Amino acid sequence: MSIASDGALLQVEGLSVTFRSRDGDINALRDVSFGMAAGESLGVVGESGSGKSLTSAAIMGLLPANAVVSGSIRFMGRELLGAKESELRDLRGRRMSIISQNALTALNPVHTVGAQIIEAIRVHDDRPSRRELRDRALALLDLVGIPQPSSRIDNYPHEFSGGMRQRALIAMSVANEPDLIIADEPTTALDVTVQAQILDVLARIQERTRSSLMLITHDLGVVAGVADRVVVMYSGSIAEQADVDDLFHQTAHPYTRGLLACLPRLDARDRSTSLYRIPGFQPSPSDRPDGCTFHPRCDVAKPGLCDVDAPLLIEVGAGHIARCHLAVRHHPRPDGSDQ
Ligand code: SF4
Repeated sequence: MSIASDGALLQVEGLSVTFRSRDGDINALRDVSFGMAAGESLGVVGESGSGKSLTSAAIMGLLPANAVVSGSIRFMGRELLGAKESELRDLRGRRMSIISQNALTALNPVHTVGAQIIEAIRVHDDRPSRRELRDRALALLDLVGIPQPSSRIDNYPHEFSGGMRQRALIAMSVANEPDLIIADEPTTALDVTVQAQILDVLARIQERTRSSLMLITHDLGVVAGVADRVVVMYSGSIAEQADVDDLFHQTAHPYTRGLLACLPRLDARDRSTSLYRIPGFQPSPSDRPDGCTFHPRCDVAKPGLCDVDAPLLIEVGAGHIARCHLAVRHHPRPDGSDQ
């Protein structure tokens, strides 16, 4: 089951990725479907290994050679699966771009930050003069909040702090005002204050360029103030998908409830107690349990049901789906909204 976005910029349908290996096939991603409308922000949330970064790599056409992909990825009306590498290369950076999680390795240490931003522009547009390119790079550094861009543009990446490197990477990624920006854990290595600043930069850029933002993160708290809708992934599949308010207030899947319980609470009386952790670990894609893949960790699992039958995605509310046998539909209020 998928939720189609009206006027979809991106429509992913039944996306599956299998890796061929000497020890057999590994089904890393299984039947993933979702859509994104133009200008929309989508949070993709899950623990490490849930398949969220793999989904973004499939969209960008950046999967390794031993990956077998099936399903459909339509972007601006074009099917990306099976497209020529030259077509994908033309789309990457110009129409869609990715901000990776490690700015230190993503930036080239032997070139200045300014030179790398200028190169990101020139790859898709070689018409501007050197003066114009430099002015655009300065404007981008200003847009992402680098103080005194004219005195920092000729710095090397090692002369920037971690937060400034991440800002420089964002500047490169949005240099050509892409229609879709994929931010893959853009705040993971940063302290909380800088995290908030980077999220603010992304929101500002999205507002200015009207691009769509796919924010990939393991932290449900990060999507709360940024995303319109959220996809929660577990063990290569979608566990739950909903508007951000429904996900937080009408949570249907025990895994999402667990992720919410992991968030620190400002109103907690006793700050000395350690944060909740979902017990156990996500299964390896080559050794998933029978039934619901979450059942060994689920605190409400029903023996004889959850360890036997794999649940399907079911609709639990308007635009809200969950993969759980016990998910209950929330009922509409008299005014027509869900409760
Ligand atoms: Fe838990 Fe069962 Fe729902 Fe899986 S199907 S999340 S084990 S209640």
